[in-house]
Amino acid sequence: MAISKTDKMRKIRDDLFEFKKSPLYAERIATKSFPVIGAGDHDADIVFIGEAPGKNEAKTGQPFCGASGRILDELLAHIKLDRKKVYITNIVKDRPTNNRDPKPEEIEMYAPFLDNQIDIVEPKIIATLGRFSMEYIMKRFGLENHLDAISKIHGHKFKVPNRNLLIIPLYHPAVAIYNRTTLPDLKKDFEVLKQEVEITN
Ligand code: URA
Repeated sequence: MAISKTDKMRKIRDDLFEFKKSPLYAERIATKSFPVIGAGDHDADIVFIGEAPGKNEAKTGQPFCGASGRILDELLAHIKLDRKKVYITNIVKDRPTNNRDPKPEEIEMYAPFLDNQIDIVEPKIIATLGRFSMEYIMKRFGLENHLDAISKIHGHKFKVPNRNLLIIPLYHPAVAIYNRTTLPDLKKDFEVLKQEVEITN
């Protein structure tokens, strides 16, 4: 019998709970925190990929539930996209100490979990949030020649060759926590996403 998407996601969750070889595991246990697997619709047309859980996320096991999450919710509301109808995850599934940037070896270690999640959901659009997931995803899908600074390619659409998949790099919502004046630019990029969602439906 075919294994359901939910069962495949449960396997990823179980493997992450037991991911003792991660350098972030000991701190997860010491701080009574959780890995953040992802949340949303397993059949979503859009997958959002952030960087790594922050403190609130690691405490609850839910992606984007703190200050960045409130900005993300505002951006989703701007284009009338229901959070329950998309899938939201991160490239690194455990919180790096003091919210430091994820290290290349951590990205490499956690990437197979993300690859599996993308294979399960089979989205038509991947929206990366921030430069870490942008770099990983564009290389992963053979778009390394199009890689540039996020300030240059945010809100652009990149078609993955021979696949019904579009990559749209977006700024990380956290940029608007520190500088609210960036919000109109973030909203404009989400409008690009909205146009694509309408085309794919
Ligand atoms: N920042 C991220 O990149 N991901 C989260 O889940 C929360 C904050």
